[in-house]
Amino acid sequence: MIKQNFLTGEYVIYSLERFKRPQSNKKNILTTPIDICPFCIENKHLAANNIYTTFNEEIRIIDNKYPILTNNDTNYGKHYVLIDTKDHYKNIIDFTDEHLFYLIKSIKEFFEILSTDKNLKYVQVFKNQGQNAGASQEHSHWQVLGLSTLPNKQKYMINALKKYEEENEKCYFCSLDYSENFVYENKDFLAFCPEDSLYCYEVNIIPKKHITNIIYLDDKMLKNLGVILKKILIKLNLMYNNLDYNICLYNGLKSQEEYHFFIQIIPRVGNLGGFEFSTGMFVNSVLPTDAAKALRNI
Ligand SMILES: [Zn+2]
Ligand SMILES: [Zn+2]
Repeated sequence: MIKQNFLTGEYVIYSLERFKRPQSNKKNILTTPIDICPFCIENKHLAANNIYTTFNEEIRIIDNKYPILTNNDTNYGKHYVLIDTKDHYKNIIDFTDEHLFYLIKSIKEFFEILSTDKNLKYVQVFKNQGQNAGASQEHSHWQVLGLSTLPNKQKYMINALKKYEEENEKCYFCSLDYSENFVYENKDFLAFCPEDSLYCYEVNIIPKKHITNIIYLDDKMLKNLGVILKKILIKLNLMYNNLDYNICLYNGLKSQEEYHFFIQIIPRVGNLGGFEFSTGMFVNSVLPTDAAKALRNI
């Protein structure tokens, strides 16, 4: 079965036989000696400039020492690292609710700060957890990239959401029937496996209310977002021990009424290979309804 992803236009082939193929259990694990880890609080002299600090220095945003883009480039941009814990060995699933609240709040506040930079057309916040997800440091951290070019993927997404809203007079996310793809919910947020997921066990988290941008979440909602994020990561980690994953935040611009803020969690089980790179198509070996059912029951 082939589906086209509504938000990105990318094709995904659901090939359930692929799941049965033998997989090697060997995992690449990053190890940075703790005495030279630039993200440990004791080594802050090894890291770049501090831009933002909160929660008793547990959370810090610093310049990226090796930025993808710099202010001097012909393609203007910003690149920061958000270190979300002092502790070298801690991870989101170990954080208290209060710690999670300050983490999500710091992301919101940083979006607000970057929104004053008129040269930036798009800001991407993401987390690479583990080497298989693209991390180069073991110590838990996120990255924030401000771009002066709107990526094609985001252009497509904005157009798809706009077109849907025009045709249906309702937001795409607010119209979906989540019953079969439902994973978990709390007062303000809903977690589900999108019916056109490109990746095995992909989970999206959306606000139940139509909210376009993280900057519009109040403190109670920020807290509930942290709680549901941790809950989903615990569920995924119970399924795959010590899972590598990516977390990506998708925000609308202030003027984009049809956008619905969401968080995408991509478990990195199975690698992207020549097929994906050459065709731009994806292979998913678990039906999203089956993934949702399994995650609901964990
Ligand atoms: Zn460290
Ligand atoms: Zn909506």
